[in-house]
Amino acid sequence: MGTTIRLEKVVKKFGRKEVIHSIDLETREGEFSFLLGPSGAGKTTILNLISGVVPLTAGNIYIGDKLVNDMKPMDRNVAIAFESYALYPDKTVFENMVFPLNAPIRKKELTDEQKKARVQEFAELLQISDLLDRYPRELSGGQRQRVALGRTLVRTPSIYLLDEPIAHLDAKLRHQMRSELKKLQIKLGIPFICTSPDQAEAVAMADRIFLLNEGRIEQEGSSRELYLTPKNEFVALMLGEPKMNITKMEMQEQNGQILFSNKDVTLKAPAGIAKAMAGKNLPKVLDLGIRPTDLKVSFKEIEGYDEYMVDFYQIIGEKFIITCIKGDTRLVVECRRALGETIELGQKVFLKWDTENFYFFDSETKNAL
Ligand code: ADP
Ligand code: MG
Repeated sequence: MGTTIRLEKVVKKFGRKEVIHSIDLETREGEFSFLLGPSGAGKTTILNLISGVVPLTAGNIYIGDKLVNDMKPMDRNVAIAFESYALYPDKTVFENMVFPLNAPIRKKELTDEQKKARVQEFAELLQISDLLDRYPRELSGGQRQRVALGRTLVRTPSIYLLDEPIAHLDAKLRHQMRSELKKLQIKLGIPFICTSPDQAEAVAMADRIFLLNEGRIEQEGSSRELYLTPKNEFVALMLGEPKMNITKMEMQEQNGQILFSNKDVTLKAPAGIAKAMAGKNLPKVLDLGIRPTDLKVSFKEIEGYDEYMVDFYQIIGEKFIITCIKGDTRLVVECRRALGETIELGQKVFLKWDTENFYFFDSETKNAL
């Protein structure tokens, strides 16, 4: 049975500076949980509080049904991989990885052969089998990170805490490790709490995301929930790449048509939207959110499309990601690209908002309407 972690009104101050503001957080049994948030949001601090290496200021932390506030890190049966690696410099990779299995409280659980087999198993998974005799100074940053991860994973704790475990790997390996970690978590059935500022990692691995911002949880849910029903602009901008376009607009009704306009552009809402909006009692001025994939793009002038200029573009395989500008209005669009089709900076591009997937936010509070 998997263990759950529960934080109850947890506060952390460093000196007088409060960095975690009364957080309530509860993981679910057997789930891969993710603390997602920008740098400085409090991700590392939360893992440190759970593991006990940093004392909490107020509130309660439960591991399973045990209150662990006053329990030493050693007694919490938690395995943590620090982002800063903290490898022993005068031990080889093998010695680093086997170290947790030789801790006094665990020393007799496994025979030497079993310990060796376990280290080899995880070394293989992390693709560091050929590095076992080296010292940390002889490794690249990405290799060291995998050793640190391996050293954490060889144990069988009640929960794994992994602080940005794959941040320093090159892109290809990072992709592979996402699926390896995900599969490992499913296989072991032990809960993982992993952190990252990268939404793509959270989307790839997490059952449940806790989206953190400045020491608070903005929203909790599956990546799909956060993507489809963001509570506010912060969440909307965090999930999805390229990011949602958010533009301050004035809403008007003209001959049964709903129009959104600012000084540069006027967007006509498709017929279906007017109906959906009728009951919403929206303010006259609001922030309108549109995902880059929800705009229609044409490179030829078409009736009903507005003219923009290509300010920047990226070609990614079969995709164009184009930043379109008109006056001060800037919209990023993502569209499919026909084979060999090209584009130039400064050229004209025509856009149409033609989707039911609209988002409205209060311009002041930034909360979803
Ligand atoms: P993250 O891991 O999300 O980048 P951290 O948990 O490391 O964020 O930091 C959260 C906030 O706490 C930051 O403002 C950081 O400066 C502050 N902080 C972290 N550790 C300490 C410390 N030991 N002393 C003082 N402030 C700290
Ligand atoms: Mg951190």
